[in-house]
Amino acid sequence: MTNRQRSPRQLRSAQQSGQVVGQGLARDDKQTIMKKPIIIISILVILIAGLFLYTKLNNSQKHFQVTFFNIGQGDAALINFGNGQKMLVDCGPDRTVLSKLGKYLPFYRRDLDYLLVTHPDLDHYGGCVEVLKRYKVKRIIFNGREKTYDKYWQEWDKTMRGENAELEIVNGYSQKNIAGAVLTFFSPDDGLNLDVKNDDNNNYSIVFKLENKGQSYLFTGDMEEPLEKALVYKYCSMTTRVQNFEPLRQSQSSVVGAQNFVPSEQSKRPVVCPALQSNILKVGHHGSDSSSGEDFLNLVNPKTAIVSVGKNKYGHPSLRVLKKLERIGVESLRTDEKGDIVEY
Ligand SMILES: [Zn+2]
Repeated sequence: MTNRQRSPRQLRSAQQSGQVVGQGLARDDKQTIMKKPIIIISILVILIAGLFLYTKLNNSQKHFQVTFFNIGQGDAALINFGNGQKMLVDCGPDRTVLSKLGKYLPFYRRDLDYLLVTHPDLDHYGGCVEVLKRYKVKRIIFNGREKTYDKYWQEWDKTMRGENAELEIVNGYSQKNIAGAVLTFFSPDDGLNLDVKNDDNNNYSIVFKLENKGQSYLFTGDMEEPLEKALVYKYCSMTTRVQNFEPLRQSQSSVVGAQNFVPSEQSKRPVVCPALQSNILKVGHHGSDSSSGEDFLNLVNPKTAIVSVGKNKYGHPSLRVLKKLERIGVESLRTDEKGDIVEY
């Protein structure tokens, strides 16, 4: 209907409702034309703000940090390398690790560069199946030990092999360089003088030292005294030979010769084993008294000891180990008391 065909009353009513043909169309067009730049500007503002937020979050991830998760009775730690690459060391006993990763990774991140499983005990790999379901993992580092009789291990092994990640089994001394940080692997190692049964899982844990800009961390999994002694025998004796001192015998306390060495800058305690010496020690086997021999602690010479522990029936951590640490002046931090522990 044109304006000419409308009665004056229809025309008035159409004018009031803003539907006047001709004039009305022109007004709608004008409004549409005016709205377009506003929509485009709004989209641009949202895009720029999103890009800004993404860049800010991404850059905030590009610093070195190690976070020991309060994961219950078990181990899980996230290493954030200086270039933003991530390594998860163990997954704790269950899916709690997912909420920890959600907290410490940016919301858009659904991948991990490395997953390292120190050994196949549930309090270390129990959460790993869930991790692989939620996160794309590029490389899995493990100790190659099998528990074919165990249905949990079977599921983990199947999930791990179905992940399409690069698989790397640690055996023997090796080093890896990631974004300027150096990882030195000491165990498992067929060449170690290790006096344990073949099914002794704890003493085949992956043990490695992480060094970054003067800071050093010793990751020990569930290492117990037999492995501690084997590492001291291999690495600390070697060090003394390098420094032209008498090689230490395994039965001889390594600390006996300590007076001969130059004390470290950081501590009054002498450093006699640079290979193992670390500022931060992730205490072996949740502070069990089967680990953390006094000689070993003196040789590692840490400033801080991290005890990754939760409610348990094993008496971890042992009061004896905590006292030992206190006696040699090491600060102990427990995840069940402190929550997640962040170190730089
Ligand atoms: Zn354990």
